[in-house]
Amino acid sequence: MNRTRMIQQLESATEWDICIIGGGATGLGTAVDAATRGLKTVLFEQHDFAKGTSSRSTKLVHGGVRYLQQGNIKLVMEALKERGLLIKNAPHLVHNQKFIVPNYKWWEGPFYGIGLKIYDWMAGKLGLGPSQFLSKEETLGLAPTLDPEGLRGGIAYHDGQFNDARLAINLAQTAALHHGTLLNYFPVTGLLKVNKKVCGVQVKDFFTGKEYAVKSKVVINATGVFTDAVMNMDDPKHKQMISPSQGIHLVVDKEFLPGNTGIMIPRTDDGRVLFAVPWHNKIVLGTTDTPVKTKDPASLLEPVPLKGEIDFILSHIGRYLSKDPQLSDVKSMFAGLRPLVKGSSKKTAALSRDHLITIAESGMITITGGKWTTYRRMAEDVVKIAIEKNGLPDKICITQELKLYGHDQPAVPAEIFQLTTEELKAVITTSVEKEMCMTVEDFLSRRTRSLLLDAQATIASAPLVAELMAAAMNKDEAWIKEQINIFNLIAKNYLPTSN
Ligand SMILES: Cc1cc2nc3c(=O)[nH]c(=O)nc-3n(C[C@H](O)[C@H](O)[C@H](O)COP(=O)(O)OP(=O)(O)OC[C@H]3O[C@@H](n4cnc5c(N)ncnc54)[C@H](O)[C@@H]3O)c2cc1C
Repeated sequence: MNRTRMIQQLESATEWDICIIGGGATGLGTAVDAATRGLKTVLFEQHDFAKGTSSRSTKLVHGGVRYLQQGNIKLVMEALKERGLLIKNAPHLVHNQKFIVPNYKWWEGPFYGIGLKIYDWMAGKLGLGPSQFLSKEETLGLAPTLDPEGLRGGIAYHDGQFNDARLAINLAQTAALHHGTLLNYFPVTGLLKVNKKVCGVQVKDFFTGKEYAVKSKVVINATGVFTDAVMNMDDPKHKQMISPSQGIHLVVDKEFLPGNTGIMIPRTDDGRVLFAVPWHNKIVLGTTDTPVKTKDPASLLEPVPLKGEIDFILSHIGRYLSKDPQLSDVKSMFAGLRPLVKGSSKKTAALSRDHLITIAESGMITITGGKWTTYRRMAEDVVKIAIEKNGLPDKICITQELKLYGHDQPAVPAEIFQLTTEELKAVITTSVEKEMCMTVEDFLSRRTRSLLLDAQATIASAPLVAELMAAAMNKDEAWIKEQINIFNLIAKNYLPTSN
């Protein structure tokens, strides 16, 4: 996957079948679905692939125990099926993760135990292993740092755990392998219309400023929290659809939860689910649910954890661990925005579980909501609608059985801290040449996950990374300086701070 080649493909095409706006889980999944059905597919991402919400998740491929509590059986069944498919098709990125629900109250054991047995049963043949009732000793054996005072026992259950940004890159590579054209740093700045019908997009190469008018039979808006901005390009009077809700995560050292078992707290004081998830030798703690009002594109792309959210996670997780993590123990923190749909619209073409597909009068299709786990199903639904509504060749969806790019290749390091300079150079070269890595931040945040795992150590490594990238990309000293400055500005928000 090479950006120069992608631009050549863009320049040599006259009209596309499907043009996707947005390179997060939803857009990339849609590109894979469309390209593997043989449709002529192009995708534009304004920044880097997965720069938005899709690199900031809790890293779980899950049915959603929370939805089970709410009685949303259909949604859980669908997500559990997708979980099973993803672990089969991307075994290099998704693995079976054991969690414990610790029980401190008498009713929690039977209540959550039965709930999780139902969860097992719903997963059917695609289950990852049976849940189990555990004694206090067994619980502490698996999670020795749980607070033993008042602990009655626990329930062990299984879910999937993954590397979200790496899956995004692999989805882009899968689509590219099937002749899709995908471009990062290519914002869509307007829509092309003939007789009030959308027939393409106006895009701009962020690096050269060159503009293109790109014709397409179908345009799909898959822009997450930016959905309304793109809908406004179509109809400036359109009613706002999305209310973003922020969720943050804190990353701490493994000493706070040694071993390989995660913790799930099904209900905090204010009714949230809290996770402690082992991830690349660290523990990810989260998450929160804070409505946000901003429409500023920069803060939608790089949201910042709020003090109240940081305090909430530290104090709540502290109640369950024998040693309370402090702010100074936080190695990195990151925030993401959920594109929550405000209410169903009259134009709803398909209200499928928790994702929503709408078709505007102009013909533009918008897909929003859902979660990482269900990206494949969302893509299948939206491409099916695109085909039906526009008379495109109706080829069947093959993504249930499709192995994703990278499944048969050596794992890419998740962080760079243990690498020798030679090893680092090799990872950078691959990222630049085969993964469309364009900036130091792309490399440290999404091609590897260094910034999310240890912000301070990553800031220290940025000058060397910039130098090696400059050599691989044929860039000069000024580029190196600029890249380090931009990276440091972003990275400071990942350092623990109390303001
Ligand atoms: C805190 C948190 C935790 C979560 N945890 C989980 C989890 O553990 N498991 C799970 O399954 N799901 C989880 N989710 C949900 C999941 O992350 C999201 O559903 C998913 O990432 C949304 O993907 P998306 O592609 O719709 O949006 P995004 O990832 O935001 O992608 C939209 C893209 O569109 C681009 N874009 C916007 N405007 C334009 C334009 N004009 N031109 C070109 N491109 C444009 C943006 O730059 C962005 O990259 C979590 C969500 C949050 C917020």
